[in-house]
Amino acid sequence: MFLTVRELKKSFGGIHALQGVSFKLDAAEIKCIIGPNGCGKSTLFNILTGVLAPDSGTAHLDGTQISGLPAHRVSRLGIGRKFQVPGVLSDLTVMEHMEIALAARDTDGLLLRTLGWRGGRAAILKQLETAGLTDYAGQIASQLPHGIKQRLEILMLVARGARLLLLDEPTAGMTAAETQATIDLIRRINKETGMAILVIEHDMAFVRNLSCPLIVMMRGQVIREGSYDEVRADPQVRAAYLGDHHA
Ligand code: ADP
Ligand code: MG
Repeated sequence: MFLTVRELKKSFGGIHALQGVSFKLDAAEIKCIIGPNGCGKSTLFNILTGVLAPDSGTAHLDGTQISGLPAHRVSRLGIGRKFQVPGVLSDLTVMEHMEIALAARDTDGLLLRTLGWRGGRAAILKQLETAGLTDYAGQIASQLPHGIKQRLEILMLVARGARLLLLDEPTAGMTAAETQATIDLIRRINKETGMAILVIEHDMAFVRNLSCPLIVMMRGQVIREGSYDEVRADPQVRAAYLGDHHA
């Protein structure tokens, strides 16, 4: 099993944010985590990225325990996280941001020595094409439209060589067209790189269109796993989360 999460618990004072969360993710698998505000989704990602240590329970990536490790070590093991809000992109071009991400992956210089600088550029251009960003290669990243920034950040994580992508509400604030482009990008990255991907998402249209197994969280627990249709038909999920207006 690629990612194994066992009985994670985390409290903040009297708030039991996680009350024994367990699930698994295969290599090259995509799963979507849904659940109401405050149910512990971001806390889970904070533990998986080493931002927080759990009170108890474990998380293993490819056999290595990652829970309790500091964030820089988890990042080096290949977990890349995309936050809900775009990070600060600088006044460098899209191409230059990608070059920096590629160089960051390549701490021993082996990749760029093998590929050469032109090879590195070609690899980046191919990734930009995958994301529909070719036309933006020469543009200043800080001035890009919101949806394009979000996609660039995902691509930078790929260029850095992540093996597991954690995306926290990647389509927040996007138009329907941008949301669909992000779904296409997630699928293509998964298919072309075999990267495993966990997505937290609120937008049920996104969840339906991504069409992957779902993990439903409520009050710090996983209450259901299954396909979109299975989850939607579950009375407990309907009552607790979806509500009849989503039916
Ligand atoms: P979600 O991402 O599902 O909306 P969170 O994981 O952000 O939920 O939060 C779960 C609960 O834990 C909430 O009640 C939240 O207020 C609380 N919480 C999260 N992080 C902290 C923190 N660093 N300090 C105190 N309380 C926190
Ligand atoms: Mg959150």
